[in-house]
Amino acid sequence: MAAEQTDDEKRMPYQLPFPKDALEEIVVPSAIPEDERLWVPQAENVWFRPLCLNRSQGYWMNLLKVRKSGVLARHRHPQGVHGMVLKGRWYYLEHDWVAETGSYVFEPPGETHTLVVPEDCEEMITFFQVNGIMYYVDPWGKATGYEDVFTKIAMCREHFAACGLGEDYVEQFIR
Ligand code: FE
Repeated sequence: MAAEQTDDEKRMPYQLPFPKDALEEIVVPSAIPEDERLWVPQAENVWFRPLCLNRSQGYWMNLLKVRKSGVLARHRHPQGVHGMVLKGRWYYLEHDWVAETGSYVFEPPGETHTLVVPEDCEEMITFFQVNGIMYYVDPWGKATGYEDVFTKIAMCREHFAACGLGEDYVEQFIR
């Protein structure tokens, strides 16, 4: 049990400095952006919106947007993934369930899947935490490429430079 505090103390901000080596917080006021330039193109009809590109721990938090004819190519996860659907619906060719607006999904290590949006859905947006890498494969598991936090950062730099925001725009999302 914590020691008793007076009513005044219960609402008092922490009075000491944060550790001097601690990283700065990230606050993104409008995570689903008004400015379309913040969506980084990833494949035909697939975009991601970076929120936290965590190079110090090797994961990334992003919004994934897929329009109805888009496909997030087949990939394997050596580490877990967490997802929360903010808009629309999608499913994996490898599973018989559909993730809907408001659904939470945990993808355990060892999953290999292909994300598609059903014909009757214009667009989906999902908040994903992806750890380690996405290992792209053919239908029999042969590697065709990968993504990690560093390839995501590089894609952001290239896109933000090309669209006029400047390549350094990505730095606010890197920790
Ligand atoms: Fe995945």
